[in-house]
Amino acid sequence: MRFIPRWRKATWAVVIWTVLMALWIVSASATSTKDVCTTATYTDACQAGATIGKGIAVTLLFLIWFIGFVVFSLIWLMSRPQRRLCPVCGEQVKKGLTTCPKCGYNFAQAASVGSASTGTPPAAPVAMPPGVFPCYRCQAPVWPPMTACTACGAPLNWPVSPA
Ligand SMILES: [Zn+2]
Ligand SMILES: [Zn+2]
Repeated sequence: MRFIPRWRKATWAVVIWTVLMALWIVSASATSTKDVCTTATYTDACQAGATIGKGIAVTLLFLIWFIGFVVFSLIWLMSRPQRRLCPVCGEQVKKGLTTCPKCGYNFAQAASVGSASTGTPPAAPVAMPPGVFPCYRCQAPVWPPMTACTACGAPLNWPVSPA
């Protein structure tokens, strides 16, 4: 499946519809008018009539294609996947992409790290008085007897401190 682009079903519908209709229109316009006008009924009038008929048929096919294309496009627009905002550059990034095409921000990496530290660098140097530590979640100052961060409510588990 590596040669098939990862399109959405709606995209495939638009593409397949366009290709099928294009084939139909081409085959309709390619049929010779001589097939319609047999040798028995072959006249210039028949030839002209068949040409006009073919023109109408092709125009109709174009109309059908166009209406279908508009309908499929509307479905395509409505089923469009939501985009997410790049936190670095503000670019609207497609949901399927794992990196921002503009600045290269890695969403997949941020998601795996973000569950623990909401995307902020874990080793942010925050000046704290002795015995006070930055909250691992919001960087607010917390200290050992506290069981939860007062700022964000993150539960705090202090390592057994040397007495
Ligand atoms: Zn970006
Ligand atoms: Zn906190």
